[in-house]
Amino acid sequence: MEKVIIIRYAEIHLKGNNRGFFERAFCINIEKSLRGIKHEIRRQSGRYLIENFDEDDEDAIVSRLLKVFGIHSLSVGLKTACDTDKIFAAVCKVSESEGTFKIETHRADKTFPLNSMQISAEIGGRLLDYNHNLKVDVHNPQFTINIDLRENGTAFVFGKFIKGAGGMPVGTAGKGLLLISGGIDSPVAGHMIARRGMEVDCIHFHSYPYTNLQARDKVIELTKLLSKFTGSTKLYIVSVTHIQEEIHKNCNPEYMVTLLRRFMMRIAQKIAIRNGLQCLITGESLGQVASQTIEGMTSSNSVVTLPVLRPLCGFDKDEIIERSRKIGTYETSIQPFEDCCTVFLPKHPAIRPQRKDIEEEESKLDADYLVDEALKTSEILSI
Ligand code: ATP
Ligand code: MG
Repeated sequence: MEKVIIIRYAEIHLKGNNRGFFERAFCINIEKSLRGIKHEIRRQSGRYLIENFDEDDEDAIVSRLLKVFGIHSLSVGLKTACDTDKIFAAVCKVSESEGTFKIETHRADKTFPLNSMQISAEIGGRLLDYNHNLKVDVHNPQFTINIDLRENGTAFVFGKFIKGAGGMPVGTAGKGLLLISGGIDSPVAGHMIARRGMEVDCIHFHSYPYTNLQARDKVIELTKLLSKFTGSTKLYIVSVTHIQEEIHKNCNPEYMVTLLRRFMMRIAQKIAIRNGLQCLITGESLGQVASQTIEGMTSSNSVVTLPVLRPLCGFDKDEIIERSRKIGTYETSIQPFEDCCTVFLPKHPAIRPQRKDIEEEESKLDADYLVDEALKTSEILSI
């Protein structure tokens, strides 16, 4: 018998004619996530198996697979022949040493002489004889042992179903550009969209020297954490220092955030279009701060034509924090380095900015020139 990790996929099986496309992306993503660890991957009757790995790597493999979108659940188990003695030997290895249990059998191989109920009863009976510290409880067992008899003469024996990351394989739902700030929200927004199958690249705006290099390192670190879910990612880093200085010099301070947001959107859209990215993604949540009103969003939408996805729009801050803890970005996000928006921040930002006023303020600047100038500062990091 040999150790295997059984991977079951989530929504992919729903995708009739596109199934091959989804499965290929899924398989590539699993391979990418296990890069550097010895293993073999095999597809078998609607699931994937990881085989021939070193037992010492088991935890690392499981923890990486738990970040692959499209995985519904996985189990670590044993693979053996469809033979009652061999199955029993595997069951003994998987079993806990004491407590109440139940055996759950699934028989795809209908030629096997016993049916599922009979297999469970036979193996369960042998297990009771073998270990007197065990008891059967079919209604409320402390642990369950699953036996899965496949068509090709192999059987899997495993304990737990470990819940996977769910969603769709990255690479099956287009490409987007995430505006990533270094705060709590934007990495969570990127994670949610990637979980629906979108490839996500990131763009960050800084105001060096008003913001420091640690703020930049923090965003690089957040992008790295996000890339554990997305595979690989590009991070575009663009300076908006001169734009902020010009707004500060020429415009009503109440409009700093509104105007800066519009510049960010324009620059992000140019970079997205140049690189074949189909939408912009932000971490905004309706009403969370003064600039995230529907008027604020209308103002930033009106300078771009690409769709703007705001997956967090309907979440409360505590829900976003919970998600950020779960995906592992929270501790990095709360490091106290300034984002560019806090530099030159007005005492009283415009809460419901009106189009006429925004345009009047913006007309004091040469927007096209400032956008082109900022684009020239763009750096690209491959993460
Ligand atoms: P976050 O936690 O993501 O920083 P926030 O609650 O602080 O969000 P804002 O500062 O109003 O909200 O920013 C709203 C959104 O605008 C961010 O989620 C992000 O998508 C984008 N954004 C803000 N600042 C930057 C930046 N410096 N670079 C790139 N995107 C940014
Ligand atoms: Mg922020």
